[in-house]
Amino acid sequence: MAGGLRRAWAVALTVLLGFAGVSAIAGELRVTAVGNAGVLLEAGGRRVLIDGLYRAGVSPYLRVPAHKQKALEAAREPFDAIDLILATHHHADHFDAGAVAAYLGSSPKTVFFSTPQAVDRLKRTVEEFESIADRVRSRLPAEGRRSISDMDGIRLHLLNLHHGRGGETPVQNLGFLVEIGDFRVLHVGDTEVDRTELEAHDLAQFDIDVAVVGYWNLQDRERRSLYRETVRPETFLAVHVPGSEAPPEYFGSARDAATMRSRVRQAVPEAVFLAPGEVHRLRRSSEP
Ligand SMILES: [Zn+2]
Repeated sequence: MAGGLRRAWAVALTVLLGFAGVSAIAGELRVTAVGNAGVLLEAGGRRVLIDGLYRAGVSPYLRVPAHKQKALEAAREPFDAIDLILATHHHADHFDAGAVAAYLGSSPKTVFFSTPQAVDRLKRTVEEFESIADRVRSRLPAEGRRSISDMDGIRLHLLNLHHGRGGETPVQNLGFLVEIGDFRVLHVGDTEVDRTELEAHDLAQFDIDVAVVGYWNLQDRERRSLYRETVRPETFLAVHVPGSEAPPEYFGSARDAATMRSRVRQAVPEAVFLAPGEVHRLRRSSEP
């Protein structure tokens, strides 16, 4: 059984610091932490950026340092040649219309995919929209359904994972399951789906290597059993961690970032916290 085989592979992790610009080698997934929930994925000669093109952010969540932000929007190394840019939703700590337009303007082959709400914001606020319109896509499948989009070397599954039921205009939030190189990576954005809603996607069938989730999903006992049981990834990457100046209530009963991290690491040994600029190389220790 393919699932059984894949489970036997160990994922090895090494960490480099400072947005190092070395390419992924064969059989390896490189994940660069861009800031807040932003990750740059690289495998099989393809590059995908999720939730990395934002500007203002939302305090106390971390922003990209200014000089790196410039390089990022100008599509300069190590942020050059990104094939696909994804934004889970339109909030200011995940997406900025000007930043996305700047990147697409700097990198003529890059495609952008997000929710209808985010793309509508691009259309309304970016003057040069017409010049990038043919590379901008939006879709929102029905809840519980997946929609697949294939690009050269990348298969993208879109999942409608709601951002909470409150409010007059619910915030659309996409979960992305990205098949890139030999790896499968899930990014859930800021979803508040419950067990039944997540189970509907039968995610365990995909042998997901890496699940990128907000740290609160690993901090809370019920949320972490939900993700461990339904997604069953080899590795969790914990993102969206506030800066150390955040009020204690951000860290639940842990009260501070360091205690929260050590508690999560103890409860979820397969969890890794991403700090902006860190590059994680994930490798399987053996081939089947
Ligand atoms: Zn957020």
